[in-house]
Amino acid sequence: MLLKGKPVADQMKEEIIAVVAERKEKGLNPPKIAILRVGSRPDDVAYESRVLKNCNELGIESEVVVVDDNIDMENFITVLDGLNENIEIHGILLFRPLPPQLDIDIISKQIKPEKDIDCMNPSNMEKLFSGDQSGMAPCTPEAVIEILKFYGYDLTGKNVVIVNRSMVLGKPLAMMFLNENATVTICHSKTNQLENITSNSDIVVTGVGKANFFHGNAFSKDSVVIDVGINFNQDQKMCGDVEFEKVFENVSAITPVPGGVGIVTSTILLKHVMKAMNLLSK
Ligand code: NAP
Repeated sequence: MLLKGKPVADQMKEEIIAVVAERKEKGLNPPKIAILRVGSRPDDVAYESRVLKNCNELGIESEVVVVDDNIDMENFITVLDGLNENIEIHGILLFRPLPPQLDIDIISKQIKPEKDIDCMNPSNMEKLFSGDQSGMAPCTPEAVIEILKFYGYDLTGKNVVIVNRSMVLGKPLAMMFLNENATVTICHSKTNQLENITSNSDIVVTGVGKANFFHGNAFSKDSVVIDVGINFNQDQKMCGDVEFEKVFENVSAITPVPGGVGIVTSTILLKHVMKAMNLLSK
């Protein structure tokens, strides 16, 4: 089975549109996101236009605040605090990496946790690790769980292998699977006999970041494979970590790249704006 991301994202979008319409009927403010961008890196501008397009589609208001590349810490924190205190803004998105004069550790802690839709503030990560679901989880791991749930997988008791130990993917995702009562193994570049481990598990999440890294012998015919990798092959075509054409027929289910995890991840960000709105109204 092909686990496409679009139906998952579409369902979340419908839910958001319904809440936005309900607020409008009640005469309440629409949800609003603020994007804080430093300078004009092409990657940031491209990501920003995708977020703005999605917001537009769903009725989420947006405000883009652009500061100069050379801004110092004091002035940056002043701008950020302004967004933290602005009651019309529910979610704040900050593009990374930041220029070297801006201390990401200090800035992450400065984002109001309730408005922290991209899970930069460590207090949100702490909540996730302690099993408290009231905070904001990182978007990509949440997208992985949403996809599996949407396609009806019961995660209880499943053997899950995650090939990634980063803070944006592997570690928080392991906590999320534990919260769903799965049994989790985290693998990385120093793992021995990786394919032995992946081929003996029910669900494999790959986030290695290398095109065609996993071949057919990394999985069994019952494997459910979630490919988080975003890579470009020799023809500059976007692809995941898995050699898709050869693996697709020989596993139980797999996400495509593109069209899998990525599209869900970008919708989770907007779902977080709605969550932020609820948290702020409490
Ligand atoms: P990262 O920090 O570089 O993590 C890569 C992970 O892969 C590390 O844990 C690394 O192990 C492991 N690894 C590397 N070589 C390996 C090998 N030979 N065998 C086993 N494990 C190996 O990257 P990231 O930021 O987490 O992102 C991972 C991938 O996900 C990238 O392709 C990125 O583009 C993609 N991504 C996708 C989305 C989405 O929405 N779809 C969002 C974010 C990221 P060590 O820890 O030992 O180095």
